[in-house]
Amino acid sequence: MFKTDVLIIGAGAAGLFCAGIAKQKGLNVIVIDHASKLAEKVRISGGGRSNFTNIDIDPQQPSKHFISENPRFCTSALSRYSAQDFVQWMRAKHVPFHEKHKGQLFCDRSSEDLIQALLLECDAGASGAHVQIMPSCKLEHLNHHDQATPYYEALTDQGRIQSQAVVVATGGLSIPQIGASDLGYRLAKQFGIRVTPTRPALVPLVFEPQAWSSFASLSGVSLPVLIEIGQGKKKTSFEEDLLFTHRGLSGPAALQISSYWHEEQALNINLLPHLDLGAFLLALKQQSKKLLLNELSTQLPNRLAQTWSHLNPEWLKSMPDLSNKSIQHITQSLQNWELRPQTTEGYKKAEVTAGGVDTRDLSQQTMQSKQAGLYFIGEVVDITGWLGGYNFQWAWSSAFACANGLASQLNKL
Ligand SMILES: Cc1cc2nc3c(=O)[nH]c(=O)nc-3n(C[C@H](O)[C@H](O)[C@H](O)COP(=O)(O)OP(=O)(O)OC[C@H]3O[C@@H](n4cnc5c(N)ncnc54)[C@H](O)[C@@H]3O)c2cc1C
Repeated sequence: MFKTDVLIIGAGAAGLFCAGIAKQKGLNVIVIDHASKLAEKVRISGGGRSNFTNIDIDPQQPSKHFISENPRFCTSALSRYSAQDFVQWMRAKHVPFHEKHKGQLFCDRSSEDLIQALLLECDAGASGAHVQIMPSCKLEHLNHHDQATPYYEALTDQGRIQSQAVVVATGGLSIPQIGASDLGYRLAKQFGIRVTPTRPALVPLVFEPQAWSSFASLSGVSLPVLIEIGQGKKKTSFEEDLLFTHRGLSGPAALQISSYWHEEQALNINLLPHLDLGAFLLALKQQSKKLLLNELSTQLPNRLAQTWSHLNPEWLKSMPDLSNKSIQHITQSLQNWELRPQTTEGYKKAEVTAGGVDTRDLSQQTMQSKQAGLYFIGEVVDITGWLGGYNFQWAWSSAFACANGLASQLNKL
């Protein structure tokens, strides 16, 4: 039987960071994970270099970069532990990093540096407390004993663990191949905490095979686009690279918009976002004798222009032969291309899970749930960041808030 102040379930980004900070506040921590390798998602993130934060995060405008039934929930944690705070932490740990673009910070060498820094944090400090990490440890039951001094008892395949508090840091459902599970949501429900519906997010989009047959051969083609979803005040748009795949669309543009997409919704894509295409073609009609296909091949990837020309015979006309109406139609088709995905590639390919533990049942200051002593942090919570380091920052910020909450609950402040 093990006894500890805090049991953390999940040795991923949020769980390990929380363990290290809690230890420095004098708390003894046990971290269990059913996977044999720790922090696998950190390892594969950012193409193996972890895009570990984004310095453009504005905690006062959370709905700019975070999706949730209540985006304002993350303001407190993101303000009290900001991207700049994590940057300082990385510097203190001597992890070299660089900015790629749009405020995205990546490790220079490998995600392994970040994992080692997280593990070092669990070892460091002179608080007298310690962190014990137990990989390949399966939780069978979690019970709460409501006595004069209440405590939690976890039954695991490596023995019983008694703790005063439990932190659920089990992440989302994406990439089950490396250990994702629904345990966090099940624990929430067991203790009467609400869970909002979950869905794959930051995920490639898939089209009905027949409808996509003309575009399947474009697999591998990539171009910068403007992609939009929704109308009026609910419109969301991204200017990013779009990648064609055998089954649909991927690349940052499709991944970002997928987090906002719901079944049957249409997307609009502008394949030439920086060109006044109508005016450009009308001018060429006067000046050029070339085929429309040849003119548009200078603006679009060649394979894309070829495919479009197979769909519309007008593309094989020379510029002077195009009617104004035809130019209008071509402009519309390239700059307001309406597409209706059939589905997504699902949790197998999703980077994150949208939805999760309902923020109405959590404290935004401490991440403690309405069940005393039970906390939820990281991706298991209904907070989903954009692509670009936002999800890791949520993991760090919520973990930090939680560690402070634990210290306060267990009188270590
Ligand atoms: C391919 C890919 C690339 C990504 N790249 C980035 C990026 O560059 N930047 C970014 O900000 N975000 C990125 N993300 C998202 C980011 O990895 C997650 O949002 C982040 O890891 C969430 O942290 P977490 O601690 O909540 O969950 P995780 O890091 O997923 O950790 C959860 C832990 O809980 C454990 N666990 C699960 N179920 C159980 C159970 N039943 N029993 C015990 N333990 C359990 C898991 O094994 C895991 O170790 C990426 C995700 C993927 C899939």
